[in-house]
Amino acid sequence: MIRNPVKGWKRLPRLSPAVRIGLGLASLVVALLLLLDLVFRVFPNPATEANRKRAEAAERIALQAALLIETGQEDGLSRALALILVRDPLLARIRVDRQDGSVVMDRRVPTLPSGVATDTNEAFQVPLMNAAGPWGRVNVWFRDTSEGGLATFLRNPMIPLVIGLGLACFLAFALYLRRVLRHLDPSSVVPDRIRQAFDVFSGGIVVVDRKGVILLANERFATIAGAPSGSDLTGQVIHLLPSLASALSPQVGTHPWTLAMDTGEALPGARLDVNFADGTRHRLLVGSAAIDDGDGVVRGCLISFEDVTPIVDLNEQLERSNAELVQSKHEIEQMNAELVRLATRDPLTGAFNRRALFVRFEVLLGEARERGTPLCCIMSDIDHFKQFNDRHGHTVGDEVLRAVCNAFSSVLRDRDVLARYGGEEFCILLPGVDLPTAAQVAERLREAVERSAGQSIREPRGLQITSSFGVAQYQPDMATADRLIEQADSALYAAKRAGRNRVCLPEQTSAATAAPDR
Ligand code: GH3
Ligand code: MG
Ligand code: MG
Repeated sequence: MIRNPVKGWKRLPRLSPAVRIGLGLASLVVALLLLLDLVFRVFPNPATEANRKRAEAAERIALQAALLIETGQEDGLSRALALILVRDPLLARIRVDRQDGSVVMDRRVPTLPSGVATDTNEAFQVPLMNAAGPWGRVNVWFRDTSEGGLATFLRNPMIPLVIGLGLACFLAFALYLRRVLRHLDPSSVVPDRIRQAFDVFSGGIVVVDRKGVILLANERFATIAGAPSGSDLTGQVIHLLPSLASALSPQVGTHPWTLAMDTGEALPGARLDVNFADGTRHRLLVGSAAIDDGDGVVRGCLISFEDVTPIVDLNEQLERSNAELVQSKHEIEQMNAELVRLATRDPLTGAFNRRALFVRFEVLLGEARERGTPLCCIMSDIDHFKQFNDRHGHTVGDEVLRAVCNAFSSVLRDRDVLARYGGEEFCILLPGVDLPTAAQVAERLREAVERSAGQSIREPRGLQITSSFGVAQYQPDMATADRLIEQADSALYAAKRAGRNRVCLPEQTSAATAAPDR
C-alpha cells in the first residue's frame, strides 16, 4: 500500500495471474537447482578450482627445476625460477631447499599491488629428485587474490547462472501462461445448469474479461455474433467477432462494455445496429454491467444484447405516421382557415362580408347589452365612385375599393370590425366606443381616405378619392342590428346631401335634409 496525499490509501497494482504463476514457477526452478547443487555439487567450486590451478603451476615449476638439476645447471636454477616468478601473475614467492635443509634460492615478487597478500597462505611443496635419489623440494607461495564478501560471492559463476536462469524461466513461463490461460476453457468451471439457465434467455448474454476476451456466452449470442448455432465463442475477443466488428467503432475505448468497465458502473441502454449472418439488420439494445472482485477492482463485464428490432421498426412506423398526421392536420388547418376566410371575407378587399358582419354584430350587441358598454356603427360610402368606373374602367374601380379599405385598416384597432356592406359601401363597428369618440374615428377615417387612397393608386396618378360617413350609437331600445345600421345610414345620407367628404351624426340628419346634394 502507498500513501496518496489526496485520495488516502491507494492499492498497489495487482500482478496478473500469468505473472504471479510465472514468478512462482521460476522461484521453484531456482530452488530445485540450488538443492541439486547442494546434494550433487553440480556447479564448480571456485576455491577447489583455484587450488587445482595452483597445484598445476607448482608442478610446472618443480618440473623446470628438476630439469635444470638433472642437467647439472644448478647455477641457472635461481635465474630461471626468478624469471618464472616475475612472469606468472599468480605467484608470490619461490624457495628451493636442498635435502639437507640448506636454501638454494628464495625469491619473492618485489612489488605486489596494494591489498594483495603475499605468502600468508600455505606453500605448495613439490619434492625434487635426481639420479642419486631425493635432491630437495620446491616451495611455491601464491598471491592471495580472494577478496571475500560480496565481490567474491558475485564472482562465483553460479550466481549469474542462477539469476539468468531464474529470469529466463520467469519470462518464458509468464508469456506462455498468458497465452495458455486465454485458451483455457473457463466454461469448464461454470456448472452446466448455470450455462443452461443462460441459454434460456431470449437475449444474448456474455461475460468478458477486462480485455474483452469472452469467458462465457449463451446460445443466443452466437446468432448475434454471426457464428453457427451452438458455437463455443469462449476465448474469442468480443469486438473482433465479425458481426460486431463491423457495427462497432474502431476505438475500443468507445465500446459500451469498455465504458462500463472504465467507469465501474452499469451502462443500460446503448444502441447497436448489427447485420446478422442471414443479411438481416437488427437493432440491439446493449446493457453492460462491470464485474469487480469485491475489492472494487474491475475484472470484467456482464453484457446483455436484446433484439429490439420489431419495437424500433414499429416505433419508426408510428413516428412516420405521426409526422404524416401532423402534416395533414396542418394542411387541414390551413384549408379550414382558407375556407373560413372565403366564407367570411370579401375576396376583393379582404374586409368581412355582409354575412360575417351580422354574426359579429350580434355578438357585440349582446356584449353591449350585458355589460352596458357603448357600441358605435359607422356607415361609409365612396363619393362619386361610379365616375372611376366610367372614366378609368372597373379595374381601377376595384383598385379604388382596395385603396379605401387599406386606408380604413390603417386607422382601425384590431377589435374593430370592418365589413364591405355592398358595392362601394362599408360598415364599421366600434365596440366600447361612444358617439363623440366614434365621430372622431370617422373623421380620422375620412382624412386617411382623402390623404392616402388616391396616392396609393399608380395608374392613373392623382386620383382624388373621398368618402362620406354616417355615425350612430347603439341605444338600449334598439331591438336589432338593423336599427343601428339604419340610423348610421341615415346620417350617411345626410353627409351625402351636405356635400360629401364629411361625417354626419344622427342629430345632424334633419339639418342636412334641408340641403340635398346627392
Ligand atoms: P355617390 O357619391 O352618390 O355615392 O355616387 P356613386 O357614383 O358613388 O354612387 P352610385 O350608387 O351611383 O354608383 C355606385 C357604383 O358602384 C355602381 C356600381 O357599378 C359600382 N360598383 C358596385 N360594386 C362594384 C365593384 O365591386 N367594383 C366596381 N368597380 N364597381 C362597383
Ligand atoms: Mg358612392
Ligand atoms: Mg353607394
